[in-house]
Amino acid sequence: MDDNIKMAEVDFDCLDRDCDGLVSFKLSDALIDDFQALCPNCHGAYQFDDELTAKLNKLRDLIVAVRKAEDILGDCNVAITVPERTVKVPYALLLTRLNTMITLNLAGREIDFHFRIEPSSPETFR
Ligand SMILES: [Zn+2]
Repeated sequence: MDDNIKMAEVDFDCLDRDCDGLVSFKLSDALIDDFQALCPNCHGAYQFDDELTAKLNKLRDLIVAVRKAEDILGDCNVAITVPERTVKVPYALLLTRLNTMITLNLAGREIDFHFRIEPSSPETFR
């Protein structure tokens, strides 16, 4: 696992209705047995079950794959057509700068996990 993947952070809104804390953790930490994510506000602890951990693991694989393709992604654009013109957005920007979000079921509720990964090198964006 390269350093960027180790540093990838994931966060979600605390499930406690009365708490507006943001629970964040490192993706690599979540793959360790008996890992618990803690809410910095209410100190609630979250333990992820095997299914959720497996999904996070797959997401990590996806990030690794994107990272490996980074040199070609820098040359790829996705065209988005808005009225009267087409805007080209680099794939690398879509994949690494914008928030990646995955909705997973946690304790019977749909929770949005946000991933923040920094590009491995500034040269990716030209
Ligand atoms: Zn909380």
